[in-house]
Amino acid sequence: MTARILVVDDIPANVKLLEARLLAEYFDVMTAADGYTALAICERNQVDLILLDIMMPGIDGFEVCERLKASRKTAHIPVVMVTALDQPADRVRGLKAGADDFLTKPVNDLQLISRVKSLLRLKTLSDELRIRADTAHTMGIDDLMRAGEGRADETGQILLVDGRANSQERIIKALKPVADVLALSDPQAALFEAAESPFDLVIVNANFDDYDPLRLCSQLRSLERTRFLPILIITEQGADEMVVRALDLGVNDYIIRPVDPNELVARSLTQIRRKRCNDRLRASVKQTIELAVTDPLTGLYNRRYLDNHLNVLFNRSMARGRPLSVLITDIDRFKQVNDTYGHDGGDEVLREFANRVRSTIRGADLACRYGGEEFVVVMPDTSPEIAAAVAERLRAAVENAPFRLKHAGEALNVTASFGIASRVGSVLTPDQLMKQADLALYEAKNTGRNRVVAAAA
Ligand code: GH3
Ligand code: MG
Ligand code: MG
Repeated sequence: MTARILVVDDIPANVKLLEARLLAEYFDVMTAADGYTALAICERNQVDLILLDIMMPGIDGFEVCERLKASRKTAHIPVVMVTALDQPADRVRGLKAGADDFLTKPVNDLQLISRVKSLLRLKTLSDELRIRADTAHTMGIDDLMRAGEGRADETGQILLVDGRANSQERIIKALKPVADVLALSDPQAALFEAAESPFDLVIVNANFDDYDPLRLCSQLRSLERTRFLPILIITEQGADEMVVRALDLGVNDYIIRPVDPNELVARSLTQIRRKRCNDRLRASVKQTIELAVTDPLTGLYNRRYLDNHLNVLFNRSMARGRPLSVLITDIDRFKQVNDTYGHDGGDEVLREFANRVRSTIRGADLACRYGGEEFVVVMPDTSPEIAAAVAERLRAAVENAPFRLKHAGEALNVTASFGIASRVGSVLTPDQLMKQADLALYEAKNTGRNRVVAAAA
């Protein structure tokens, strides 16, 4: 993980110490001795994370943090406040200022590196989301891409696995303002629950008398349904060896007892945000694929998808010796609709036409918009007789109810012509099948429109 980290501290020795540790992990390090310099660096450079001292001449760390979080340009940079152990109130102020995490002086190596890495992983994800949002904006498809964002602001759902009732209570109380917590003391029940319900985070308190908590962590990592679920463990002071093993297993972060409620809140929120970012990224990949194969006007599959998928359905019908039928339909005199009601009116008719196609066919049928006002339905396991009946049903569904144009406030009579062709026992290619259906459609147009013609067997 390479990233640029800004270390801000007015005492040169503190800067040197942190810088050396970060350089040893191959991070790119910049330094500042006061708040104004830090703000200027963040404005001008790409900074991935800030380690921020609190007591500094000029403006203090809280104010630097507030200013960073208030600017659009720097709000997304994670800020870790470096606090003194004997000033627990600083953490409350830090959280209010928008800090993402805390480290206590003197800074422990393992804590420094695990915290930095945890926040950088989150930043990588959120950067990717921001880039995609920008692209979606440029392409004018913000609304389509925004669909998966719904859960971003919802209360976090946390599963707490803790062997002791009194510590369960304390943790639930600390997290109450930011998350709903379900507490369980049986690790196996917890594993089951984690796989069944949509949690954002599992907190494992390593306080069991006769159970190795890392076993649960490893099981959570290996189950398909919990593989991406963040895990935070709570350990006792001096359990570094266990923490290292936990991080190796894929545990995302840890907290040392006695648990500071503010630290717990900050770290839980980071993990919850990370989970949400991950979910949104996965949803956006799915959406990108959907956008590539669907027609934006009607929501039906597009021609590119049909060209590919027809081959799959065709080969399957050959292999299983089952019939396959295709239907091509073209709206009659559609140009007149555009000429009379404008392009928007025409679009409304196309959308309504697509709805009637959708509600007439079976789930296993593949409907697509083939071109302007031409649609194709591929029907697996469908004989020529059934295909003719489906086409006739659709033809009637179009003719029998007028299309209401919200746009023009009018009801419009629409008809369409249909060509169908089937693969029954013959040796055909998908192209030949489509060509036959197209010829049949041509004949339907030539013999008066608003009719179904089947290709000669
Ligand atoms: P026919 O009965 O012979 O099919 O006559 P037609 O007028 O439907 O056929 P033609 O192919 O001459 O015209 C099709 C029209 O469809 C022309 C084109 O402007 C319009 N069209 C194509 N794509 C769209 C679209 O996405 N939206 C709208 N509103 N119109 C479209
Ligand atoms: Mg037409
Ligand atoms: Mg046409």
